[in-house]
Amino acid sequence: MRFEFATATRIIFGQGSIKEAAPLAATFGRRALIVVGSTPEQAALLIDQLKAQQVEAVTFGVSGEPAIETVQAGMVVARDNHCDVIIGLGGGSAIDTGKAMAALLTNPGDPLDYLEVIGRGQPLQQMPLPYLAIPTTAGTGSEVTRNAVLASHEYHVKVSLRSPLMLPRVAIVDPELTYSLPQAITASTGLDALTQLIEPYTCNAPNPLVDAICREGMQRAARSLKRAYQDGSDVAAREDMSIAALFGGLALANAKLGAVHGFAGPFGGLYPAPHGMICARLLPFVVEANVRALQAREPNSPVLQRYAEVAQLLTGRSTAGAREAIGWLHQLCADLNVAPLSQFGFTEQDIPSVVAQAQKASSMKGNPIVLTAEELSGILRVAL
Ligand code: NAD
Repeated sequence: MRFEFATATRIIFGQGSIKEAAPLAATFGRRALIVVGSTPEQAALLIDQLKAQQVEAVTFGVSGEPAIETVQAGMVVARDNHCDVIIGLGGGSAIDTGKAMAALLTNPGDPLDYLEVIGRGQPLQQMPLPYLAIPTTAGTGSEVTRNAVLASHEYHVKVSLRSPLMLPRVAIVDPELTYSLPQAITASTGLDALTQLIEPYTCNAPNPLVDAICREGMQRAARSLKRAYQDGSDVAAREDMSIAALFGGLALANAKLGAVHGFAGPFGGLYPAPHGMICARLLPFVVEANVRALQAREPNSPVLQRYAEVAQLLTGRSTAGAREAIGWLHQLCADLNVAPLSQFGFTEQDIPSVVAQAQKASSMKGNPIVLTAEELSGILRVAL
């Protein structure tokens, strides 16, 4: 057995932990650029705290999921203001934007030099600017991953900028920042977190350290996602979901993903759908296709036992088998009002092109079994 595990240099978790951000930022630089999503009041507090530490701050706002151009626009602001430390404060969109900016500000050339799939995929040579990541959603775990997901308008696909150098210097996970999440975003981001715990646990390159993290994360998400959705002020459920999201990030950065994320990249580049909703809609159908394909072609695969363990963790029943995970996930999606893919403009005619792109996606390479084009099309057809 061989495995490795890498994460942010420092992870700070806890209610109110955002107050540690300003003193830490002051150890890295004197001029901060804060990349923010739609929570300017949280950024305003942070700016005051930075000022108290003699750190000047400018902000760069991100609306929607980021494209390559979003990062380039942010880099102009950072350069104009001579920023020497970057802070991402927001959902995965703001965090990925800041992470990519920190990397590209010190590595010259075009983003396409470094982007995977559509670009030249060259490795980053220089250490990025110091980067602090502070999530305000409980979903992506991007605060501890080494990639930033960016949309390409030219290629109509979402791809990653990825490097071990991109792991943030500090991840501050403060569940209080998620209390203001509206119900629909609690659902989409929480379902993304759950997917990022199930796919690494059942991927083709498992890692025992990741396994332990996934088991803990799945249990927390299973008991708390619906509660956080029904009552956003449930402090214990919000805390569980922030832990589940963090653990999902730790998992995906150190194991692989699978077909759900293989589809999410191309789908997210083509349709204006929240990443977590795409993942959630596909998850039960992908589990079903994987279990069926494994039973037919690789009946001795240890992943079948892993799917049974997923079912046991989700349902809380020690006798649950792989198929019960599928029913539980379908019920959760119904309870959280997950929409069919057609709601985002996806049609039957689009299936072949999304399948062709998904087969090339890096996440697809982690799926526990190679699914045929027909099997992949079948998943999209039932998720329509
Ligand atoms: P998001 O960042 O797009 O946020 C969704 C919405 O919620 C936005 O409108 C945002 O402004 C708002 N919001 C965020 N925090 C809020 C709060 N506390 N209160 C009220 N509103 C709030 O959504 P996300 O799911 O966190 O991130 C999605 C992006 O992350 C996608 O681009 C996806 O591809 C990417 N992603 C990256 C990784 C990675 O490892 N880098 C992993 C998974 C997903």
